[in-house]
Amino acid sequence: MKKVYCDISATTPIDIDVIDLMNDINKNIYGNPSSVHKYGQKSHVIIEKARIQIANSLNCHQEEIIFTGCGTESNNIAIKGILKSNSHIISSSYEHPAVVNILKQLKHKGHDITLLKPEKDGKINPSSIKKAVNKKTKLITIMFSNNELGSLNDIHEISNIANKNNIPLHVDAVQCVGKIPIDLQKLKVDLLSISAHKFYGPKGVGALFIRKGIELKPILDGGGQELNLRPGTENISGIAGMGLAISKACEKIDEKIAYIKSLEERFIEKLNENNIDFIIHIKDRLPGLLAIGFPNIDGQSLLIALDLKGIAVSFGSACSSGTTKASQILLDANIDENLAKSTLRISFGKIHSFDDIDYVAKQLSEIIKRIK
Ligand code: PLP
Repeated sequence: MKKVYCDISATTPIDIDVIDLMNDINKNIYGNPSSVHKYGQKSHVIIEKARIQIANSLNCHQEEIIFTGCGTESNNIAIKGILKSNSHIISSSYEHPAVVNILKQLKHKGHDITLLKPEKDGKINPSSIKKAVNKKTKLITIMFSNNELGSLNDIHEISNIANKNNIPLHVDAVQCVGKIPIDLQKLKVDLLSISAHKFYGPKGVGALFIRKGIELKPILDGGGQELNLRPGTENISGIAGMGLAISKACEKIDEKIAYIKSLEERFIEKLNENNIDFIIHIKDRLPGLLAIGFPNIDGQSLLIALDLKGIAVSFGSACSSGTTKASQILLDANIDENLAKSTLRISFGKIHSFDDIDYVAKQLSEIIKRIK
């Protein structure tokens, strides 16, 4: 049976060149990057090369990048590290649990949290952020692209508001790094979280951009690695893999986006040819991520039927999988509860061919006709 993995937004397979590089490093390079001898220095050079690759891909300085264990950890270091005393934080209700659950904890500790809801277009309205700012606001944290909807926030406009009010801005960009161009010289965010496994790099490696001048206090006690902010001996092969993966993802990114969009178009065309009733919730979205509703079809049953045909998609995000409830994120974005229950997240990437797309559209159409 043919197999097509369409859950790129949950995680990506590792790029083959990245695997080769990591295997080579795992076999041959093992010195502690903090050691002074040549073994250590070899490892150190590998880490610094990856730092440069990330900085070049995001157009920032290499000193502004620290390596972490994942996107979740980057968010924790950024959000907990920047706050000094009890303060007011502006964020959104549809952040990933890797932000929302940090904010819940901070609320228990006495911080005042404003969670803004997305509008119908799936975006946080920058003017609602402007209105929410008060004298005690010490952080704005807004995701770049929502992981279930694929909607893209106007981070440029949000950064203008944050900068004008002298409030640090953290952006969880885990979903969109490597999928859309990000230029940190132009985009005036202060902290930006990324994760390698979303752009064909390894799992368990992340990074945090910390703009020069932004001071964080460490949330873990230990050694002095990564500007004293992420103690622990570095994951050398993982970091090298992340460096190569981001370079590959960001190289000729416009061509990659055009290809992914052509896959989306083909998919839509095939569903239309089969007279399938569907709604794509978000217009201005991350390339390759379709939050797509099939009216009167149970999303969870559809996921399982597709899985039996070798096709992997998700119902809500991977983190909330297993539930049959409508996703709160879709409800927050004003999607009707029945339609939310009929919505799948189908995500395409560079691993897909037009043949794959045709197979997915054909199987999906047959299943929907059978269920109806
Ligand atoms: N933030 C967003 C928007 C995500 O989509 C994810 C993962 O799905 C994360 C954070 C967590 O990243 P990681 O799995 O690297 O901890």
